[in-house]
Amino acid sequence: MTHSVHTSASTARHTLPDDGLTGRAGRARREPMAVRALRDDTYLVDTEHDSYVVDLDGRSCTCPDYRLRGARCKHLRRVAMEVNEGLVPPPGKRDGVCAVCGESVFVPVDRGSYLCPAHSPERGEFVRDRETRSLLLVTRVTSERADERETEDGTVVADYGSNAEYGGHEPVIEAVYVGRAVTENGRMNVAGLRRYSFPASRLARVPAALRPNLAVVGV
Ligand SMILES: [Zn+2]
Ligand SMILES: [Zn+2]
Repeated sequence: MTHSVHTSASTARHTLPDDGLTGRAGRARREPMAVRALRDDTYLVDTEHDSYVVDLDGRSCTCPDYRLRGARCKHLRRVAMEVNEGLVPPPGKRDGVCAVCGESVFVPVDRGSYLCPAHSPERGEFVRDRETRSLLLVTRVTSERADERETEDGTVVADYGSNAEYGGHEPVIEAVYVGRAVTENGRMNVAGLRRYSFPASRLARVPAALRPNLAVVGV
């Protein structure tokens, strides 16, 4: 997992571990550079001599090596390396934090609320409501904040008294009550069940060993 990174590492010029490569690839690792993701999906590469802007998707750089020779220069290579090694966000993502634990995660470039892998259940995963102890099944993990998202009756999710202990900034998770599903021959059908909305941390993930041994359909 490379989701856990500290962005401070990439704000100062630094080298990457030498992997024995020569030429531009070797210089890309050995020369001190700082790579920073910019708002428009490009990257600012600060070197000891100058700063350049790399467009990873467009495979271009503002340095002379690229502009005059069309080379896949050391700056382009360095940005690709830092993305691959989880040091800077890939294009389309930005530095963010998990709404539950605050861990650094790369998140989409919008104003949604997001979770780290440890706090983000999968669609179709069993979870337990910390308030009622009810077993539920996740049907959707949204990026909408609990203090903005309204339920069908127009109430904001965070405004329910039972949600007072959970963060309004957390993303809403939609889930159905397992007890209301029809189960036949080991298959639990949740199609047509009403979806309820919860702040993410109200739903506790159920350890694999404690999950019901049921195939789920209709999620
Ligand atoms: Zn370059
Ligand atoms: Zn987390």
